[in-house]
Amino acid sequence: MTKQKIWLDGKLVDWDKANFHLLTHTLHYGSGAFEGIRAYATASGPAVFRLDDHLKRFVYSAKVFGLKMPYKIKELKGAIIDLLKINRLEEGYIRPIVFYGNKMGLVPTGAPIHVAIAAWPWGKYLAKDRVAVKISKFIRLHPKSTVIDAKLSGHYANSIVASMEAKDLGFDEALLLDHEGNIAEGPGENIFFIKDRTLVTPQPGSILPGITRDSIKRIAKDLKYKLVEKKIRPAEIKNYAEAFFVGTAVEVCPIARINNFKFKGSEQATELQKTYNDTVRGKIKKYKKWLTYSK
Ligand code: PMP
Repeated sequence: MTKQKIWLDGKLVDWDKANFHLLTHTLHYGSGAFEGIRAYATASGPAVFRLDDHLKRFVYSAKVFGLKMPYKIKELKGAIIDLLKINRLEEGYIRPIVFYGNKMGLVPTGAPIHVAIAAWPWGKYLAKDRVAVKISKFIRLHPKSTVIDAKLSGHYANSIVASMEAKDLGFDEALLLDHEGNIAEGPGENIFFIKDRTLVTPQPGSILPGITRDSIKRIAKDLKYKLVEKKIRPAEIKNYAEAFFVGTAVEVCPIARINNFKFKGSEQATELQKTYNDTVRGKIKKYKKWLTYSK
C-alpha cells in the first residue's frame, strides 16, 4: 500500500483505488494510447522533460483510435505538475494513458473514455551500462498495419514478444528489423550508430520517431556531429564503431554488441549520454526551454 495518488478522470484518487472492470475494452483489445515521460531533479526543483511534445503526441495517438481526448493539453499539463507535487516526486516516470472503458466487441464507439496519469520513481530502465542486443526473429509492425508513429497500447504486443525472446536468449534487449529487413528500432527505444563523428539512424517509416531521438539529433548537431537518416541493413553494423539506444525510459544507453558483433567502444556515445543527462537536469542553458518546472 502506497500513499501515492493517481490522477483519474480529473480527480486525485488513492493508488490502490484506481481500478477498472474486467470488461474494459482496452484490456482486451489494446485500444489505448499512452505516454512515457520523465521528470528530473534540477537546481530549480523537479522539472519535466519535453512535456509539451509528449502531450502533443499523446493527443495525436489518441485520435488514431477515435479516442476523443476529454482534456486540453493545458489541463493535462496542470494535472501532471500537480501530481508530482502531491506525490512529492523529485524525479520519476510519468505515465498518462487514455483508454476505452466497459464495452465488448471490437468497435469501441459509444464506450466511455477514461484518462489516467500515474507517476512513480523509476531508475535505470536497462540494468547495465552497455547492453547486449539481439536482432529479433519478430519484425516491427508493417507501417500499413496500423498508424506506426502513434504510441498505441496494442503496438506493445510486438515489443513484448521481441523483448522476451531477447531475454530468454541471454541478451539485455532486442532490436527489430522492418518488413524490408532494415534495422528499425528496439522494443521501446530508437537506435543510433556512430562512425567518425557521423551519427546514423533509421529514417522514419517503421519506427516511433521518439522525442529522445529528436533531442539527440539536436544535441549532436550542436556538438558538430554529422547526422544521416537512412535505411540501414544489418550487414552494415560492422562498419560502425559505436551504437546506442535512446528513449525516455532508457535515456541514452550504449550498446556493447549486436548478436556476435562487438563494437569497439562507446566514447562518443558516452559524450552524448553525458550531455543528455546534463540537458534533462537543466545544466545546459540552451536546452532549458525543454523543461517544465513543477514549482
Ligand atoms: N520506439 C518505441 C517503440 C518506443 O516505445 C519508444 C518509447 N516511447 C521509443 C521508440 C522512444 O521514444 P521517446 O524517446 O519519445 O520516449
